[in-house]
Amino acid sequence: MILPGATLGVLGGGQLGRMFTLAAISMGYRVVVLDPDPHSPAGHIADQHIQASFMDHAALQMLGDECAAITTEFENVPADSMEFLEQFCKVRPNARALHIAQDRIREKSWLQELGLPTAPFVPIYESTDLDDAVRQLTAPLLLKTASMGYDGKGQVMVTDPGEAHAAFISLGENPCVLEEMVELESEVSVILARSINGRTEVYPVGENRHVNGILDTTIVPAAIDEGLRNDATGMAVRMADAMDYCGVLAVEFFCTRNGELLVNEIATRPHNSGHYTVDACATSQFEQQVRTMCGLPPGDARLYSPVVMTNLLGDIWQGGEPAWEAILNEPGACLHLYGKREARPGRKMGHFNYLAESTDAALNSVAGIRKTLGF
Ligand code: AMP
Repeated sequence: MILPGATLGVLGGGQLGRMFTLAAISMGYRVVVLDPDPHSPAGHIADQHIQASFMDHAALQMLGDECAAITTEFENVPADSMEFLEQFCKVRPNARALHIAQDRIREKSWLQELGLPTAPFVPIYESTDLDDAVRQLTAPLLLKTASMGYDGKGQVMVTDPGEAHAAFISLGENPCVLEEMVELESEVSVILARSINGRTEVYPVGENRHVNGILDTTIVPAAIDEGLRNDATGMAVRMADAMDYCGVLAVEFFCTRNGELLVNEIATRPHNSGHYTVDACATSQFEQQVRTMCGLPPGDARLYSPVVMTNLLGDIWQGGEPAWEAILNEPGACLHLYGKREARPGRKMGHFNYLAESTDAALNSVAGIRKTLGF
C-alpha cells in the first residue's frame, strides 16, 4: 500500500488531472503533474509541474524517480511512454488497458471477442476497405477516426460510398471505424473503481445528454428500467475483470429505441459523466483513482442524493465572466471551475452539480440557472 506522505504522479494536467490532484492533496499525498502546457489547470495546484511532452524520456524518468505510483487523465498517452514508466514505479491503469481504450478498432474488436454488443461496425484501414464496408452496413453510418477522437470530433455522417470516400479524406486517411448510426432512446454510463486485487465498487448508472457531440448533462440515477440498469452494470464489471483492471473505468452505452443496450466506448480514467460523484457520493471518482493506484480498496460508491451535473462550456463566457451568483445563491448547487485562462466555444471550463430530493426537482432548478446564464 502506498500511504499518505508518498508522491503520486499524473500524466496530463487538464481538469481531470486537476480534480485528481485536489483529491490526492486532501488525502495527504504529494502530487507531480507532467503536462506540456505552462498554464495547465492541474499544474497550477500540484506540488510540482514538470512542463514537458508525454514522449520526453528524460522528463518521464524524472517523474518516475519522484513518484511511488503514476496514473493518467487521458487514454492517448503513447504506449511506449507507459512501458518506459513501468520500469520506475507502479503505473495504473497499466499499458495494456490503455492500449485497448486508445484505439476504436482495438476497443470494439476486444468487446466483440468478449461477446459484448456494439453498434455494427467495420474497421477501415485504407480507402479500398470502404466500398465493401458500406455494402455490409445499413445507412446512415458514422465514420470515426480510430484514435484521438473525442467529444464527437473526428466523426462524419455518411450514407453512400461517395460520401464515405470524401469523409475518409477529410479525416486525413487515418484508420477509422465505419459504424451504423443507431436510433437512440438514451445514453447512459457506468463508472466503477477496481483495486489491484479485484475489489470493485460500482456507481449508479447515470443518463447522459449530449449537445453537438459534447456531454451537456448527467442525471443520476438514470430513469431506465432495472433490467437495463443491471445489464449495464454487469457488462462494465465484466470488462474490468477481463482486463484485470486497476483504476477507475467509465463505460458509455447506447440504449436503442428497440430496447437494446450497446457499448459505445470505454475510458480508462475518471470521466466527465462521473463528476457528480464529487458532491453526491460517499467517495468521489477522483478519490477512487488515488485509492486504486495506491493499492487501497475502493471507497463506498453509494449515492447520497439525486443529482444533475451540468457542463459549463466556454460559450457562456462570450459576454464576459458569467454571473456566478445564479449558481452560488442556490444551496443545492455546487460550482466547479477548472481555472482555464481562455474560454473558447465548446471548451469545457467547469460544471455544477445540483442536488435535490428528486432528479426532476434538480432538472427544474437547473433550467432556471441555465436561463439566467443564457444557455
Ligand atoms: P463518441 O465520440 O463515439 O462517444 O460519440 C459522441 C456522441 O455521438 C455519442 O455520445 C452519441 O450521442 C453520438 N453517436 C456516436 N456514435 C453513434 C452511433 N453509432 N449512433 C448514434 N449516435 C452516435
